[in-house]
Amino acid sequence: MEYNFLHKKHWETQDYLLYIYDVIADMLRKADQNNLSSFTLNFDNEEAARSFESAEDMFEWMDRNGYHETSIKMFVSQVFFSLVKDYCYYLYESLSCAQRGKVTVAYSLLRKPIRDNLLYLEWLLDNCEEFYNTFMTRSVEEYDVASFKNFDKSRIRKIVNSACKKTYMGETLNKDNIVFTLRFNNKEQIGLQRIWNQSMHLITTSPNYLTERGNLNFIFTDNENWNEYWDYYYLVMPQLITYSLEICEALFISITDVTELELLFNRSVRYAKYSKISPDLDSAKKIEKEAYKIFDLAEEKGTNIFLTCDYCNQRVLINHELMNEIIHNWSIKCTECLEEFSICKYILGIDVAKS
Ligand SMILES: [Zn+2]
Repeated sequence: MEYNFLHKKHWETQDYLLYIYDVIADMLRKADQNNLSSFTLNFDNEEAARSFESAEDMFEWMDRNGYHETSIKMFVSQVFFSLVKDYCYYLYESLSCAQRGKVTVAYSLLRKPIRDNLLYLEWLLDNCEEFYNTFMTRSVEEYDVASFKNFDKSRIRKIVNSACKKTYMGETLNKDNIVFTLRFNNKEQIGLQRIWNQSMHLITTSPNYLTERGNLNFIFTDNENWNEYWDYYYLVMPQLITYSLEICEALFISITDVTELELLFNRSVRYAKYSKISPDLDSAKKIEKEAYKIFDLAEEKGTNIFLTCDYCNQRVLINHELMNEIIHNWSIKCTECLEEFSICKYILGIDVAKS
């Protein structure tokens, strides 16, 4: 893509960030299409059904009547999709502001999704029982992740670290606690807390980011300084947003059916794309090569891998050439109907057949 205001050196990163945004947002579309938030309860008798219908709080009713497991599943599903929807609204606007050079607004809009929404998602992934019980039975303050009284740094670090372990690449992306530091450490120079506070308040009095005498935060900033903040946004965002997708994916696959092959395919594609914008990454080349391993795997089994076209619903054979296109482009041409279709989504409908 070409962008009007954005410096050319950030175009590829902006494309990547919008791609990951699309993949996360697509989980919401899949939820709508497949009705993932609705559940069926089979009652033992009519009386139980009537009692459920007249219950003021269905979660409480289910807990009291032996349906706790369903209650938790419904809760995880509903909270996940609601939080992700809100996350996407803010993230998209932040990316759009960054693209147009409204740097302070881009940072301000990041605080809620990256700090809070994501932390609730991590908590949901780490310990959904605890989240559920606190949410259902305790005071609002006790589940307010912005309250340092209940969520001090050591508790947050524990949640982040445990959630990482339940994802595919979360631990790698949070190496040396970098994701935690960026989001929650207000003492570190690299942390976003400092920028969030400065972009939202004209004066900051915390010793960690004290406004200089005779200045107002970000108001009298010169061009050079301004560009540094703009560059910094594109330096930290790929890691933060790729990490977010890891957390979302782990929750998404606990709610919906995704085959091992579909998982492998989605991960291969997105990490190959990630390695393209992170050439400094030691393992970048290795990661890109990994994406093609899916064929070796298929070949070993004497099978071919297919993708379903959005337009004609026909199966499209994924060979090396097409995989190359998938990794380096944002859409591919269907070999059956010749329409271009987007691959900026969570790709399901991956199929295998004997060759
Ligand atoms: Zn087609």
